[in-house]
Amino acid sequence: MTIETPTQSGVGALLERAASPGFDGWRRNVLRLGGCTNPVHLVGSATLVDQATGEALRSFTSDEYGGRLLVACGNRRASVCPVCAALYRADTYQLIRAGLVGGKETPAGVGGHPRVFATLTAPGFGPVHTRRERDGRVRACRPRKAGEWCPHGLPVGCRARHAEDDRRLGEPLCPRCYDYAGAVLWQAQAGELWHRFALELRRVLARRGGLSRTEFAEAVRLSYAKVAEYQRRGLIHFHVVIRLDGPEGPETAPPGWVTTGLLADAVREAAGLVRLVARGADVVGRRVLRFGRQIDIRPIAAFDAGERLTSSAVAGYIAKYATKGAESAGAVDGRIHQATDLPLLPVRDHTLRMIGTCWRLGGLEPFESLRLRRWAHMLGYRGHFSTKSRRYSTTLTALRSARAEHRAQEQRDAFGFGDRPTLLVGQWRYAGRGYSPEAALVAESVRTGGVSHDA
Ligand SMILES: [Zn+2]
Ligand SMILES: [Zn+2]
Ligand SMILES: [Zn+2]
Repeated sequence: MTIETPTQSGVGALLERAASPGFDGWRRNVLRLGGCTNPVHLVGSATLVDQATGEALRSFTSDEYGGRLLVACGNRRASVCPVCAALYRADTYQLIRAGLVGGKETPAGVGGHPRVFATLTAPGFGPVHTRRERDGRVRACRPRKAGEWCPHGLPVGCRARHAEDDRRLGEPLCPRCYDYAGAVLWQAQAGELWHRFALELRRVLARRGGLSRTEFAEAVRLSYAKVAEYQRRGLIHFHVVIRLDGPEGPETAPPGWVTTGLLADAVREAAGLVRLVARGADVVGRRVLRFGRQIDIRPIAAFDAGERLTSSAVAGYIAKYATKGAESAGAVDGRIHQATDLPLLPVRDHTLRMIGTCWRLGGLEPFESLRLRRWAHMLGYRGHFSTKSRRYSTTLTALRSARAEHRAQEQRDAFGFGDRPTLLVGQWRYAGRGYSPEAALVAESVRTGGVSHDA
């Protein structure tokens, strides 16, 4: 007996498809996705209309594409669709870089404004296995005197020199000593903590400049772009670019006393000052939320030179973090719907305890507004992965519509309507996802580099 592999059945179906009418349109449809792993199928039709006269210039239906128009999934996360994530990463890179050196309608003058790249961390909720490196050598995880035990009878120290892929990294030395409720509540209110920080930073800067809050707001504008990144212990870090502009935003320089050094000091002070009392103190005990003491603040070079961090490096970091999800902390992809899903989740114990704590607290009244069950698969975090203030630079939407407009212009040119103002009016409905075996074969050939991406 012979067993057909998926590739073999794909080849058979491809040959059959190639012999039928409409093969070329079908193939172009798949090629256009650039190898997207999970495209969306649409059925319907569209008409290209002359905006001035209302004349229908050209109509087309999904039949021209072999029955279904395929659209790339557009997922941000590299673990879900590496192809779409690569595009998202490239856009994020452009957006962050524009806010640092200008471009995409942001003036080049921002390159001379004070800017720092800061990392705000979560505090500790109990000792976890950590890889420590100093002078290029890996150190012991938590050296303690032998014979010291926690109340649950587990050693309080760990002398292991953990390898980078050690599965214990990020896990608590004693899960029963670890404050899971604190960790989950911190994560669920991390967005609020960030907002408090942004307010506190303005307050600190005003005070250091000897101005009132109002006077400061009239002289200096604060812009930022930030991204949340999961650490191995399942808690996020915020990586953030902070820039200070003059009264009119990016077009104007801030007053002379506003320097990069001042900004760096103010970020450190503000991050140390922010406090937030967690909800539900009467149920799980009083907890005051704050950022971790490990705060990394680095000035960004005005020009790509010297010791300072370059604009390109910062844009690269943020773009990379922006395509990661909670899976880097070992969490699951999709939403969890019921408690009976919990024991079957393909996650390590530590992650399961984070998720389980979200589920348990999420059922209690004081935590209702945190929607912990809805966000249990994100280990409690319910904020956006990447956000920026309005004046930082361009938006992802602007970059995407510029690309869509470029494609539309190419189509107008191809049909000979190049200089007429046109509108595409479409009626589409969702008709499924994924690939047939023969389409998967074409997509695979794109991914392995045979064909270029025209998205
Ligand atoms: Zn995709
Ligand atoms: Zn250890
Ligand atoms: Zn213990």
